[in-house]
This record gives sequence, structure tokens and C-alpha cells, in this order.
Amino acid sequence: MEVVNDNNCGWIKDLSSRKNIKTLSSDLDCEWLIVGAGYTGLSAARKLAKLNPNQKIILVDAQKAGEGASSRNSGYLVDTTLNDGFTSNKELEKYKKKSDIYNLGIRVVKKFIKEHQVDCDWNECGKYFASSKVEDKKILDNFSNILSKLGFNHALLDKNQLSKKLGTEFYNIGLFTKGGILIHPGKLARSMVNCLPNNVELFENTNLFKWFSFKDYIICHFINGKIKTKKIIFATNGFLKSLGLKVNYNFPITLTASMTRPLTDEEFKAIGQPKEWGVLPVRPMGATIRMTKDRRILIRNTAELRNPFKMLNSDIEKRLNFHKIGIKKRFPQLGDDLIKSTWSGVVSRTRNSSQIFEKISKNIFVAGCYNGSGIGVGTLFGEQIALKACNESSREIEIIEGRNLPTILPPKPFLDLGIKIRLIYERLKASSDL
Ligand SMILES: Cc1cc2nc3c(=O)[nH]c(=O)nc-3n(C[C@H](O)[C@H](O)[C@H](O)COP(=O)(O)OP(=O)(O)OC[C@H]3O[C@@H](n4cnc5c(N)ncnc54)[C@H](O)[C@@H]3O)c2cc1C
Repeated sequence: MEVVNDNNCGWIKDLSSRKNIKTLSSDLDCEWLIVGAGYTGLSAARKLAKLNPNQKIILVDAQKAGEGASSRNSGYLVDTTLNDGFTSNKELEKYKKKSDIYNLGIRVVKKFIKEHQVDCDWNECGKYFASSKVEDKKILDNFSNILSKLGFNHALLDKNQLSKKLGTEFYNIGLFTKGGILIHPGKLARSMVNCLPNNVELFENTNLFKWFSFKDYIICHFINGKIKTKKIIFATNGFLKSLGLKVNYNFPITLTASMTRPLTDEEFKAIGQPKEWGVLPVRPMGATIRMTKDRRILIRNTAELRNPFKMLNSDIEKRLNFHKIGIKKRFPQLGDDLIKSTWSGVVSRTRNSSQIFEKISKNIFVAGCYNGSGIGVGTLFGEQIALKACNESSREIEIIEGRNLPTILPPKPFLDLGIKIRLIYERLKASSDL
């Protein structure tokens, strides 16, 4: 399968362009191969290099490193989530396991940015879950109960309080959680590329299209060469299934987002000059919307099961119209043509929204499927899968392995049909909040 992304991502456009991109052009042997250079693969490479300073580690990506979903996301480093599956979390014990992992994720990103002096617009400003539908209050009350039992600092908010904080009168009810962090996802991903250790060799625009085990090795085929490796870590997230990995447990979903230009002083005044904020929807398919620190509005309100994953510019143009409507609903006082960039990205989901972290056979490891929490959990899982592959143990591995395991998906064609029906149903339920 070919992995190609559009060139429209607003976060990536903020970064300087990289030079010295190396593409695989001959056959190579190595001790370690990591496939996929997003947060997971980059973190796995960083950790492996530290653990094995004298071994040869190769990292490959089908596109430019870090420029897949890891640079294309909405930048919420989450402590808690309300809708990380298609149902809300009901059981406290399961929820606690999940939030323990999120918190380890926050900790590991924090440690990384401190160690490497990374500027990724880190803002510990918390986050909101908000809805225009008063009926959704019962969902938030229930969520508030769970958060109280687990000791999460949070507050329920009414329309007035929300409008003062967000500069929009669109939302009627909301819940604020103090622990969420907003970041610039592209800056974080780029920093992980920039600080790859010297014993990691990075090949970009190098798409793995076939792999198999042979005796004690894994043979990987790329267009201009093959790599023979002793151990392999797959960190391709939304593309795990296309490489034949955990095919009965994960499926890809394509998300599309848009970002405006920075608001002018006048526009900013018209919406009450709010501080940076991020709102997540109460219903799974509602809009994620963010005001960045430089006054840009980001919106994501589509999630689709697509094949091929890649969107043509004409497909993206259609999603842009949804985004325009979403912004207009919330900020009727602003003009119509604010959006400057629209892009898509592929994520991976499991049936019960649990992550994949596994040794799948001798010398083959895989980590992925973080739903809406890949910034922290991807960074954590990348480092920990590297430790696991080196037969090391850690408290983090124990916590990760204590999670509920992903459940098996129904067979095709019921799977595709089931997902499509579910997405349509959830979209209808969230229609006022798109
Ligand atoms: C629009 C959008 C909004 C999101 N919002 C948030 C958010 O606010 N907070 C949050 O925590 N998460 C969010 N996510 C999810 C988050 O971005 C992902 O969970 C995270 O990036 C996963 O990191 P990863 O390294 O596992 O995968 P990726 O970043 O997807 O990296 C996988 C890499 O594998 C490469 N690859 C795939 N196939 C091959 C192949 N055959 N050969 C070689 N390389 C290959 C890809 O090119 C890619 O670079 C969002 C995602 C999107 C798209």
C-alpha cells in the first residue's frame, strides 16, 4: 500500500523545511529495524539507541519523518477522555487503567521536552468538553462523577461561564478538566526527528511494501532495496492493518482538520479576546475545536472509514465546507474566508478503544492504536516497546500490560458495514455540534 499525505497541514507549514532527506537505495543488514517515524517509532528509536549504543538501528518512514498523524493532530495531550471509543466509559476500574496510561504519557512527553529543551508551545491550560445540547448534561454529570471518584480536578460549566472563556455563545453546557495540555504537534514531532541519536539511521520516503520472516531474520522489501533485520518494531499506527498486522483487531479512520489564519486585532476583540483554549466534543463525532496561542482557530469535525486512505484535493475541499460551517456556527461575527489550510490524517482504532502493545512473534513487536490520545501514549508506548524488545522490564510495561486488551473485530463485510453504520449514527447524534 502506498502511503502519501497531502501537503496542506497548517502545523507542518509552520516548520522550516528539512534538508538531507535520505531515501533507501541499496540492500542493508541491521540489528534493529523500526517501521514508522511518528511519535511511536521516533520514541522507540531514541530509547533503543540509548539501550544499544553499539548496535545498528534503522528507522524508515514512507513519507517525511514525523509528518504523518503525529504532525497532523489537534495537539491535545490528554489526561482524560470522554469519547475514546464509540461508547462512553462506564466502568470505573477500566477508566482508571486508561487514565493511568494517559498520565504516564503526559509524564514521558514532559520529561522529553525538558531533557531536550523543546519548544512545542506547551500550555497547561486544561481542556473543555462542551456541547450545545442541554440534554447532554447527563453525560457530563456522569463523567463528572467518574472524575470525582478518581480525584481529577474538574468543574461543570454553564453557558455564561463557557462564553466568557471561549468567546462563543454556541455551547450550553461544559466540563473543564485541569490536567489537559495543549501543544503544537508538529513542533513536538520535529523535535523528536532532530534529536535522533547518531546510531539511528533514518530513511524517509521509503515505503515498506512486503515483509516476511526467514530463519532468524525478517526481510523487508522497499522499492529501491531490502533490509534484513534481526528484530523489528512496527510503529505504523493507522497503517498496521495494511501491513498485515493485528488485522482482526484494528482498523484505520481518516480524520480531516482545518486551521484559519491568525485573527486580526479587530476579529479577536469581536470574540472577547479569549486566552488559548481547546474544546473536545461530548458526543464522539462532534467537533474538536481549538483557539491557538497565536489566535488561529482549528476545527476537526469529520471521521471516515476510507479506502484508499489518501484524500484527493477535491475530497479535502468538501470537508473544508463542513469546517467553514462549524466555525460560522460558533463565531457568526467572524468572516467566511478565514481558513488557510485543510488536511487529513490517518489514525487507528480498536473495537474497545484499547491500545496494541505486543510481541507478536519471535523478534517482532508492534505498538499503536491510541485513538485520540497518541501524543502522550504513542511517546510512552514507543519507549516501552523498545524496552520490551530488549527483554527489559519496567513499572510502565506492567501498567500498560495490565490494560484491557483489544477485542476481536467482526469479520468482513460486517466490519465495514458495522463501522459505517456506527459512524453515521454517531454523526447524526452529534449533528448540532459538528
Ligand atoms: C486530525 C487528527 C487529530 C488528532 N488529534 C489528536 C489529539 O488532539 N491528541 C492526541 O493525542 N492524538 C490525536 N490524534 C492521533 C495522533 O495523531 C496519533 O495517535 C499519533 O500520531 C500516533 O503516532 P504514531 O507514531 O503511532 O503514528 P503516526 O504518526 O501515524 O506514524 C506512523 C508512521 O508510519 C509510516 N508508515 C505507515 N506505513 C508505512 C509503510 N508501509 N512503510 C514505511 N512507513 C510507513 C507513516 O508514514 C507514519 O509517518 C489525531 C490524529 C489526527 C489525524
